[in-house]
Amino acid sequence: MNAIQIPAVTTSRDVIVSIARLNKSFGAFHVLKDVDLDVGRGEVVVIIGASGSGKSTLIRCVNSLEMYQSGRLTVDGFNMPTEADRKIGGEKELARIRKGVGMVFQQFNLFPHMSAIDNVAIAPIRVRGRKPDEAKATALRLLERVGLRDHAHKLPSQLSGGQQQRVAIARSLAMEPHIMLFDEPTSALDPEMVGEVLDVMRELAREGMTMMIVTHEMGFAREVADRVVYIDHGRILEIGTPAEIFDRPTHERTRTFLSRVL
Ligand code: ADP
Ligand code: MG
Repeated sequence: MNAIQIPAVTTSRDVIVSIARLNKSFGAFHVLKDVDLDVGRGEVVVIIGASGSGKSTLIRCVNSLEMYQSGRLTVDGFNMPTEADRKIGGEKELARIRKGVGMVFQQFNLFPHMSAIDNVAIAPIRVRGRKPDEAKATALRLLERVGLRDHAHKLPSQLSGGQQQRVAIARSLAMEPHIMLFDEPTSALDPEMVGEVLDVMRELAREGMTMMIVTHEMGFAREVADRVVYIDHGRILEIGTPAEIFDRPTHERTRTFLSRVL
């Protein structure tokens, strides 16, 4: 395919994710309503909101785990297909873009029969065609980066929840993503393990990784976010710096939500 750039859909170089008037329904249920959001390269955007407000659906749209019906969504300048587009094809190009988007879920989803290092190395070997020796050397460096060098040969069942989630982050990083999406990465963890996962994320932010993070960890959000997005019933009700959202929310609903979680 010729990479023809259509001006109307081309985003500026420093915007990695551009979302405009995005609408997403599950059947008759309208989940995301006219969502507008641009994420700059190196930016950390934290998404907050009540359960069921559409946070997961929004970030799942960004890597096409969910398809949207209307609006515009570009990632790395590529127009992510709508539901109707997906029926037509273009899977190859989509697959290429998705490889640049890392995702970490609440559940770690590690391969239970594989050691930590193999969990991290498997996708580079299978998907990117890396040589196993090289992929494992890289995996070991990534495990070191998340503080797990000494646990590289353990199975997931021999690791704590916090350690498993750090392996999951290393596994995402192994694909050299341009952006990382986190969907409540610490919600399934015992409280004493939350900090070690947030520390890894904090370090990624410091290194300039672009991140979209759904979390209920408001202290972390305040500290790490460049911008905080408050979603209410599928609409972005408010967006601003942590100080703007946490200290001076303009909407009553934002205040009510914050008073419940802070
Ligand atoms: P959040 O992450 O903010 O808790 P979600 O994005 O998971 O919210 O869900 C938003 C709404 O969409 C909820 O009402 C949820 O029940 C609904 N929903 C999510 N996924 C599906 C699905 N696959 N099919 C139908 N409804 C869904
Ligand atoms: Mg969710």
